[in-house]
Amino acid sequence: MNHPANTIINALSFDIEDWFHMVGIDAVADPDTWPTLPSIVVEQTQWIVHTLAEADVKATFFMLGWVAERYPQLARLIADAGHELGTHSYWHRKVYDLTPEQFHEDMKRSIDIIESQSGQKVLGFRAPSFSIRPGTEWAFDVLADLGLVYDTSLFPARRGHGGYPCPPQPHVFEGAPSGRPIHELPISVMRIGPIKLPFSGGGYVRLLPGAVIRRGFSQLHKRGCPVVIYLHPRDFCPDCPRVPMPLHRRFKSYVGLGTTKRKLAMLLGRYRFDTCSSVLGITSSRAA
Ligand SMILES: [Zn+2]
Repeated sequence: MNHPANTIINALSFDIEDWFHMVGIDAVADPDTWPTLPSIVVEQTQWIVHTLAEADVKATFFMLGWVAERYPQLARLIADAGHELGTHSYWHRKVYDLTPEQFHEDMKRSIDIIESQSGQKVLGFRAPSFSIRPGTEWAFDVLADLGLVYDTSLFPARRGHGGYPCPPQPHVFEGAPSGRPIHELPISVMRIGPIKLPFSGGGYVRLLPGAVIRRGFSQLHKRGCPVVIYLHPRDFCPDCPRVPMPLHRRFKSYVGLGTTKRKLAMLLGRYRFDTCSSVLGITSSRAA
């Protein structure tokens, strides 16, 4: 079947956290230090909202509860611009490091704050660092218990903090221990020979040439799959504060920061985008 690029609506998403919420970096691992660090999240999120308004595109913003609580005007700013609010947890801890009870408590706190600030019902979740992996399926029951209807955390390729084998297209996940179904919007990966390569978010967008990203779009669109773009405020911030970290992390964290704005403009000009819930066909009212 032929799927011309302009008929497929892709998902545009942003994980709203600060530069110091990077996972696994000792220098910024202690939440007690976060309020003392310079912040880029408000300024860069305002830039994202402004850019999307100019392009007349709606997106999903998965907010960290910690950020929402510290900057109480931010969720409302995003909602007032017509975007969808989702949750990215409260503390940005990896799901597989938590017990189901800890995860429930963290998620409830984030959802309560984001809903009360934005006036929207939170429908979707993205796990910090895509940290739902085989053995962590109980997380889907926590999402269902909290009234969430979709997840966009499964990463169908190998990675340091997660990776979960699943179909590449939007599907219904039925592997929760209770068997309750939940909509899943997996992260996009392209194939280059035997290699599965993520191309549509974070360090991959910063690192990969635009031509490779477009090749990924065309490959997924030929299969009828939408692409899921996921970016962070820090991806747009070349003068982000820097912290000591191992060389390979430093490269992945900072390379290509100056190219992301240009690449986002290229994507917005070339492809159609909407919120994650729209791409999944979830139409329930977003009023909280
Ligand atoms: Zn994150």
